[in-house]
Amino acid sequence: MNKTKIIATITDAYTKEKLIAIAQAGVNIVRLNFSHAKHPTTKPLIDLIHQLNKQGTTNLGILLDTKWPEVRTGERDQPYLYQRDEQFRIFTDQTKMTEHSDMFCDYAYLLEDMKVWDTIAIESGLMNVVVQEVHSDFLLVKSENTCEIGSRRHMNFPGISLRLPGLTEKDKADLIFWLENGIDYVAASFIRNQHNLEEIRTFLTESIQTVKTFEATTPTFPQIIAKIENQEGISNLEEIVKSADGIMIARGDLGIETPINQLPYYQKYILDVCFKYGRTCIMATELLKSMTNSPFPTRAEVSDVYNSVIARVDAVMLSDETAIGKFPIETVKLMKETVEEAEKHTINKHKDFDIQREDEASLGKKLLVKHALFLADELKAKCVIVFTHTGSLAKMVAGFKPNQNVFAFTPYPEIINLMRILFGIQGMKMKQRADHTTENQEIALQMLLEQGLVSSGDKIVIIADKKRGEKTDPLIRVTIVE
Ligand code: PEP
Repeated sequence: MNKTKIIATITDAYTKEKLIAIAQAGVNIVRLNFSHAKHPTTKPLIDLIHQLNKQGTTNLGILLDTKWPEVRTGERDQPYLYQRDEQFRIFTDQTKMTEHSDMFCDYAYLLEDMKVWDTIAIESGLMNVVVQEVHSDFLLVKSENTCEIGSRRHMNFPGISLRLPGLTEKDKADLIFWLENGIDYVAASFIRNQHNLEEIRTFLTESIQTVKTFEATTPTFPQIIAKIENQEGISNLEEIVKSADGIMIARGDLGIETPINQLPYYQKYILDVCFKYGRTCIMATELLKSMTNSPFPTRAEVSDVYNSVIARVDAVMLSDETAIGKFPIETVKLMKETVEEAEKHTINKHKDFDIQREDEASLGKKLLVKHALFLADELKAKCVIVFTHTGSLAKMVAGFKPNQNVFAFTPYPEIINLMRILFGIQGMKMKQRADHTTENQEIALQMLLEQGLVSSGDKIVIIADKKRGEKTDPLIRVTIVE
């Protein structure tokens, strides 16, 4: 069982058979990219995943990746081939365009926010233009390379703080769709500060009252993964990490919005801040990109997956490789094998993680978890058992990066769903309240034995921190399977 989780991007073109095949190949969470996905065709796919999960055929979490405000060029009848060193004009008012080379930009404040020598990256960084002159109704720019540009191409503005709205109407509709359909996580694109996250949370908190949510047996507050994709997100990283449930290192846009040679530094920096606050961290984009079209990855890509695991990310993510790639199953299998190989050679030192001290109660819990994991290492325990109601104890265990597989027992299916992304955690459903009574401990051990997950003679460390009445009663226990 790999501790580092695998996320794969899928589309509504996935059949039941293909879904089962990627799940069996090792995917833990599927990602639906709402820059492209449409509600009517995505709903049947989500229903299918819920149905397969219920039957026990798959065990997949669902992550919705929002579109969020973005800037694009305009419609074109035909693509235009811009030449290197060509000068052309960019307008925000289409009616003023006269030349075929004129380009439209849908960012209303373009002429106010840009200045001479600023750069614009078009078509996801394939074309860079530099501002030469700022006029009252257009920017005169010079292309640094030759590139063909069609309709509605992406525009990035490295280092520029854009005045974009937090949530668009489309995002709001997507978030409602998320609440209605039992999706476990939302990945919020282009998070630039904590206010962007607060806006999402407020919208969800208000909507959850009125929307008929997916039949949850326990109220689960949506898990929000903040995507870090530009300089502003980096500059405000600490406040974003503190208020998000998890972070995605969205290397696609981050590698356009910041100098590409600085990307490895930012990856490391984002991970370090996530460790400090015990936040889930996803490494995304181009991990096995060449497998979109080829049955074999490059050596560098395999090393990237391996190095992400030894850098201790919680999850590694596939995008085009599984969404539109020719070899999705092979890609997932190779990713899983590489993750497993890397984990064999990685020993986590728990003291390196989650050093942030909050209130006394959470500090006490953290110390309990950290020392239980030291104990598990020194005793060479086979696994760790956690009893959790809301998943928060499991989250804390994941934050200290266990070296053993951790089985987290809870009565709530929704909490099992939310725990799928957590490093090293496997959710286990029990019938009764997950208090750490002696009876529950025996039930948990029996379940693991019956499922062949432990055998006679194995040492197991149990961690629990459940309230009995008003009294908090933390526990670490070492037991040997009879
Ligand atoms: C990224 O930019 O790396 C990313 C994951 O976001 P998207 O796939 O939405 O561009």
